[in-house]
Amino acid sequence: MLGGTFDPVHLGHLRSAVELREALALDRVHLVPAATPPLRGEPRVAPTDRLALLRLGIGDTPGLVADPRELERDGPSYSADTLASLREELGFDARLVMALGHDAFLRLADWHEPERLFELAHVVVIDRPDHQAALPDALVELLAGREVEDSEALMARPAGRLLRLRLPSRMAISATEVRRRLMAGFSVRYLLPEAVESHILSWGLYRHG
Ligand code: ATP
Repeated sequence: MLGGTFDPVHLGHLRSAVELREALALDRVHLVPAATPPLRGEPRVAPTDRLALLRLGIGDTPGLVADPRELERDGPSYSADTLASLREELGFDARLVMALGHDAFLRLADWHEPERLFELAHVVVIDRPDHQAALPDALVELLAGREVEDSEALMARPAGRLLRLRLPSRMAISATEVRRRLMAGFSVRYLLPEAVESHILSWGLYRHG
């Protein structure tokens, strides 16, 4: 599972999802847009539009799935609830991974039921060239004894470990920068798939602050 706001989806998300699947030999990567992200402001664009753009971005990419389950729930989009519903579908023996970028990882100890996340899944942190800050103390405490050095170590158990991963194509692309460019009328070509770009432009999304 790779959760996020996807406001909008960009090549940093999609390329990371493809490389994550290969690096960890995963059957699928579910990209899960949050309806109401608990720890950040209201997304700029409605959930249904973010999901539609995500579907366009994924297209027919093997192994990537646009998963609407958080849009079908009421209340805040807690990842623990999303992992619990995936765990229920996949069974207790399946290897389940929650992936997130380093920026999101820095706040993991503030998330809803952070211990439960590790009961339900492995946590895999994707390195981002534009986000390098050190870990806060509460996070270091949460991680104690969980970190492993390589993907092999995730094979042995269905959940509970932490792996930090440097994927081959690290991309300094952020949705913040994509929104900023769209608002300023600058080009976003090659930052997101062309199908996503052309729908954003034709629907007039992200034009106003
Ligand atoms: P924003 O700039 O609005 O904060 P974002 O680009 O970080 O958005 P999100 O939808 O918040 O995108 O990200 C979803 C997940 O994907 C998060 O875990 C985030 O860290 C990760 N992610 C986003 N961009 C990249 C990238 N370029 N490389 C690797 N991971 C990324």
